[in-house]
Parts: sequence; C-alpha cells; structure tokens
Amino acid sequence: MDTEADPHVGLRGARAPEFQRVAIAGSQATNGNGAGQAHGRWPAGTIASRVLVLNASYEPINVCNVRRATVLVLKERAEVIERGEGALHSERLVFRRPCVIRLIRYVRVPRDAHRRKITRKAVLARDAWTCQYCGSQSGGLTVDHVIPRSRGGESVWENIVASCAPCNRKKANLTPREARMHPRSRPRPPGPNVFIRLASPRIPVVWERYLVAA
Ligand SMILES: [Zn+2]
Repeated sequence: MDTEADPHVGLRGARAPEFQRVAIAGSQATNGNGAGQAHGRWPAGTIASRVLVLNASYEPINVCNVRRATVLVLKERAEVIERGEGALHSERLVFRRPCVIRLIRYVRVPRDAHRRKITRKAVLARDAWTCQYCGSQSGGLTVDHVIPRSRGGESVWENIVASCAPCNRKKANLTPREARMHPRSRPRPPGPNVFIRLASPRIPVVWERYLVAA
C-alpha cells in the first residue's frame, strides 16, 4: 500500500474510532467570528481546512483537509510538522489544528502521477504565466501545441506551452523550425507544486518553505 501515489488510499473506508468524538474549537477565529463557536463540526471548504501533505522525504505531494489529516495522524501514518490556529478536542486528546503533515512512510509517487490533468490553467501555472515564445506576461495567454495537432502533435505536457495570443497567431500551423519559434524551456509534466498551488487558492505562509524546497 505504501507504493500508492495517494496517501489516503489506504484509509478509504476506514475510520479512526477516536475521530468519532473529535470536535473543533477556535476554527472560526481566522474568519473574525470569534473562537469556540464551531464545536462538533469542521470548517469545510475554507483555507483553514487545507493541510499540506509532505512525503517522508519532505517533498510536498498533496493537499488534504483537516479531517483526513487528523485521521492520518491518529492512525500514526503521519506526523504534524506545522500547526495553525484552532485546536481539535476529543475526550482523550487535544491538539492544535495541523497545517502541514509528513507521512511516516515514504510513498513512491509515480512519475506520471500528475500527467492526467492537462488544463489550460495548469499549463499556464507550470509556465509561470509567461509566453514561452516571447516571454510576455501580459494577459490573454493561451496554450499552444508546439507541434501543431494538424501536423501530428499530441496533446501531452511535452507538446503544450503557454503562448500569448500574438505568438499563437504568428506560429499558426507551423512547426517550431518553420516558424523559427522555439519554447524557452523544454515543456515537461509539472511537479506536484503546480497542482498544490492550483488546489489551494491562497497558499498559507507556513507552506511556502516546503513548496520552495521542492
Ligand atoms: Zn508571445
């Protein structure tokens, strides 16, 4: 099971008994509503509920919610590396809300784990919202097939780059050689950081050091 890319797979369907009695206090503090008003429920969909999951090697591999993070910690699959505002209470334990957790056992992430989600947003994020032909960062970025589809180019990470609209028009159905337009950096499948940044609208400050390191 430790070869799975998704650290939660092994927990699907499993529930930590302790978790049934866990309630959260102070979870609303970050919203300015005062602490201690959220007993018995978890803040859903808020940035406060996002937890960065690091591999045993400290590489960031995923984002999960506080509920999953808590289960992983209670089952001793993960340890808490950074804590945030708010505390989790149960009959037998109290601990502050995890912000960053680290898996105890190393999980091998297949090299193609992130290949599936080719979206315009992910391509632009990978390329730092920069046209790969002229370096422009102005708005209206599109994605371009380096080898055009009409010339047999595939829709894979290695053949798609961010391109400004003028470059996209200029390149049209030409190959890089014909157009004399070559991507500045060789397009590759992005690492997990790109998806972590896309999954979390705002990156908590405490996450940054772990993302930079990757
Ligand atoms: Zn351009």
